[in-house]
Amino acid sequence: ENYTPNQERYDTMHYQRCGKSGVLLPRISLGLWHNFGFNDNFGNARNIVRKAFDLGITHLDLANNYGPPYGAAEENFGRILQKDFLSHRDELFIATKAGYDMWPGPYGNWGSKKYLIASLDQSLKRMGLDYVDVFYHHRPDPQTPLEETMSALSQVVKQGKALYIGLSRYSPEDTEKAANLLKEMGTPCLIHQSKYSMFEREVEGPMLAKLGDLEMGSIVFSPLAQGMLTNKYVNGIPENSRANKDNTYLNVTAVEEKLDKIKLLHQMAVERGQTLSQMAIAWLFNHPVVTSVLVGASSPTQLEENVGCMKNANFTSSEIEKIEDILSK
Ligand code: NDP
Repeated sequence: ENYTPNQERYDTMHYQRCGKSGVLLPRISLGLWHNFGFNDNFGNARNIVRKAFDLGITHLDLANNYGPPYGAAEENFGRILQKDFLSHRDELFIATKAGYDMWPGPYGNWGSKKYLIASLDQSLKRMGLDYVDVFYHHRPDPQTPLEETMSALSQVVKQGKALYIGLSRYSPEDTEKAANLLKEMGTPCLIHQSKYSMFEREVEGPMLAKLGDLEMGSIVFSPLAQGMLTNKYVNGIPENSRANKDNTYLNVTAVEEKLDKIKLLHQMAVERGQTLSQMAIAWLFNHPVVTSVLVGASSPTQLEENVGCMKNANFTSSEIEKIEDILSK
């Protein structure tokens, strides 16, 4: 059936400037890591993207290897674009990445120019796009000279295959080195991507401060700790959850270890009149360097719930203390 986007889609979402650039990103962005593979329900995937757009989520995050199999998320997303968003391409800010295992042999992984250039060309074909808005190096490559990787990123911008460049999982030191190289090449780095949630706080160390100093944007992934920071696991582990699926990076033991904290945080969220996912996302907005929070969703309803965090994103200092208290138990 035909899709008519919500006319009010830009009325409630907040948009934040991405570092020192011309780009504004929605406070909440959608990632297509899970739920967009060939084994997932295409209609559901399509409805998730429609819901995102209707909620003002203009930024969608992909990677060459998202699926399974590799490439599937980009291919499915390409079909969704073709069906529903052809006349809305310029309202969307689309990211893809390369840096992990993608195809066999010595040229399908890591950070060589050989790999990155070929991978972006493949990604564009799968999505049916002329260019992506941001192309990321997905993870640092300890073997390839940083100059080579950065010159490949710079080249795709100069060729018009990507408008901006991003780095993912780079250390503060490497981010600075890379940012300086890119600046010299005339293609400044737009954004850095790292993991950040109540349960994963390493980025609060030197990383975010460095991004602030470098005037780069920062988008943070797995803000719900892959679903642990929601009401999903409060009463046991549902059949249809990431923790219960094979070949994911969340397992039942990880959830069980965190269950006491999850329950206390859930209780606190209820007292604040919101859900745990809403509280967990809102809490990340407290950090001034965070441009956007990159969530995943297995249904449109989850996404709608998560965006509802905007209604109550403020914390009193005693609430902040209470969260610290629960997390340190
Ligand atoms: P989240 O922490 O947001 O986890 C998303 C999962 O949590 C959903 O798939 C769903 O799992 C569950 N969930 C979400 N909302 C709700 C809700 N309201 N109620 C109950 N359960 C909910 O993020 P992800 O780990 O998915 O990562 C987000 C994105 O970040 C990725 O898609 C990707 O784009 C990016 N990323 C980047 C990485 C990098 O290396 N640069 C690494 C990892 C992610 P369920 O299926 O159980 O329902």
